[in-house]
Amino acid sequence: MEPAGVPPPSCAPAWEAEEPPGSPTLPAECPRDGEPARKAREGAAAAERSRGLGPTGRAARGGEERGARAGRRPRVTVDSSKAKTSLEALKISLRQLRWREFPLGRRSPCDIYWHGVSFHDNYIFSGQVNKFPGMTEMVRKVTLSRAVRTMQDLFPVEYNFYPRSWILPEEFPLFVAEVRMMKESDPSWKPTFIVKPDGGCQGDGIYLIKDPSDVRPAGSLQSRPAVVQEYICKPLLVDKLKFDIRLYVLLKSLEPLEIYIAKDGLSRFCTEPYQEPTLKNLHQVFMHLTNYSLNIHSGNFIHSDNVNTGSKRTFSSILCRLSSRGADVKKVWSDIISLVIKTIIALTPELKVYYQSDIPAGKPGPTCFQILGFDILLMKNLKPMLLEVNANPSMRIEHEQELSPGVFENVPSPVDEEVKVAVIRDTLRLVDPQKKKRKDIQSQTSEHVSETKEDLLDAGPAGGLEHDTSRNTEAGLPSLCLKQVFPKYAKQFNYLRLVDRVAALFIRFLGVKGTTKLGPTGFRTFIRNCKLSNSNFSMASVDILYIDITRRWNSMGIDHKESGMCLQAFVEAFFCLAQKKYKSLPLHEQVASLIDFCEYHLAALGEKRPLCGRGTAERRSAVVTCPTDGLEVTAAHTPLLNCTAAAGKCADCRSHCYPGAVSPGAGRD
Ligand code: ADP
Repeated sequence: MEPAGVPPPSCAPAWEAEEPPGSPTLPAECPRDGEPARKAREGAAAAERSRGLGPTGRAARGGEERGARAGRRPRVTVDSSKAKTSLEALKISLRQLRWREFPLGRRSPCDIYWHGVSFHDNYIFSGQVNKFPGMTEMVRKVTLSRAVRTMQDLFPVEYNFYPRSWILPEEFPLFVAEVRMMKESDPSWKPTFIVKPDGGCQGDGIYLIKDPSDVRPAGSLQSRPAVVQEYICKPLLVDKLKFDIRLYVLLKSLEPLEIYIAKDGLSRFCTEPYQEPTLKNLHQVFMHLTNYSLNIHSGNFIHSDNVNTGSKRTFSSILCRLSSRGADVKKVWSDIISLVIKTIIALTPELKVYYQSDIPAGKPGPTCFQILGFDILLMKNLKPMLLEVNANPSMRIEHEQELSPGVFENVPSPVDEEVKVAVIRDTLRLVDPQKKKRKDIQSQTSEHVSETKEDLLDAGPAGGLEHDTSRNTEAGLPSLCLKQVFPKYAKQFNYLRLVDRVAALFIRFLGVKGTTKLGPTGFRTFIRNCKLSNSNFSMASVDILYIDITRRWNSMGIDHKESGMCLQAFVEAFFCLAQKKYKSLPLHEQVASLIDFCEYHLAALGEKRPLCGRGTAERRSAVVTCPTDGLEVTAAHTPLLNCTAAAGKCADCRSHCYPGAVSPGAGRD
């Protein structure tokens, strides 16, 4: 599709419009003559002036001191010393919010720590940090592909938004065999594949191939694994150019799962007209790869001075063009929201393992949130496909421009500024610790305690309690650009969260705080407590299963720091056990049945033994709970529902020092 022409001044329903149940939809908003950009630029200018204590900065500080004397609430404090390239956008956001920035850090704790790279940028013991432990590892190309593959094994239709992928070098023979088989069954199939080195970014090391034999030598693959993926040959084109979408997603909390999506993102364009891949054009990166970092070096790159044109535009401007051509933009949004929620559901099990390892029960804070960059390609038929997830999406709001040959200068990029400042500012508004305190107080004193959670969620980010409580501080700020999609649409997606429940079992038996791998004793205890061994499956077979699977996963060279069984290996063992026990069912039903079976026996064991005290367990319970919504429980386990529900009420006991779990120190061998 190649729509042309000027977008209509306003398309799509209002942002606050309620979606029909069953079709999550974010409405598109057309940018109005760059007005948001102008406002953002004014904010930026104000921030610039106040930096170094210009007139605005002095006024603000004076106001703060007067406020403190008058007994007004203190301002939220943010440590920006590790913000790196997101610093400019962060500064503007903090200025707009009138929060207090500590650019060099602070001796006493801050409310929020803004890290440019990872959770570990700083040693933090309290407050909130804008990164989750393990996120960088989780979204690497190989790890993401594995996590999505597990979900594809369980729910192939739901997870068909990720191109068929193979992990090199270990799956090279499988890749060759599967391609040969597919070609034999359909001789007209002329595929193209894209090879992407693990841990690469900005198109680094990526190349296209027509045949598995074109994969470059295995010697380099050994040191740098890669993902080879089916190439999407028919992308949607605008102005004859291929483009992708960078969408910003806020993972506000892991447990309970809370996801927000920014209502606008960026579209990054190729700089050569697109042609379907042939042997002749395979190497033309400006035609096939949409990376900004590559295309900026093309003579055809156009810096956008407004949001509707150029090589980097807002996503909303694309949607407006599509809408003006009669495309179902609501459906596009709905599919994108599903893709985002499903991808995060694939990532959460392992993230929880990392989380309990870095912030074990009993260790003080911090809590985490994170902005993720989702790279999405729209196919010609408007189906969104996931390309990758970025743990550190660029938050730069300026770009390099070549003024004269060889002379470069950083100039402001209005498109980046408009989108990114809003995302950072509104993330901060959503995690505002003072708002949470006020909310807690309000919920204690509120007369409207009978108001259901559902009512609040339905009000969405633009309404509801979250925003009412801060009306004063937020006066003058635009409505939130981040829209909650989970738990808002939890009912539609909770049935997918099976691996989360398997991970909860895994974490329960890990035993020693700070570990991410299960030892053989832990695995045996799991089998014993869940009553999984019998005359057909002896403890000797259990040991063999453990050794076989663990050895294979460890030989893939994923993580040599610790010995033992990693979560993916445990998941594989769990699937094996499920297939053994419930032979005739589809895989996801086998797995669901085995989870129910295990939870039933663990809960029963819990009832027989004395429960442990609360206190220390509270933090852990925040990490591991087992969602059961939307899952069918077999008749044989119906009594479990009551006892799981009861156990759920004291989830802290169940998850932290569950009586059947390995006691600290006993899990390592
Ligand atoms: P990087 O992290 O190096 O940017 P990506 O996975 O984002 O790696 O791939 C780089 C670019 O290659 C994408 O922006 C997109 O334009 C293109 N691309 C990646 N995977 C595919 C695919 N399966 N089909 C078509 N194009 C793809």
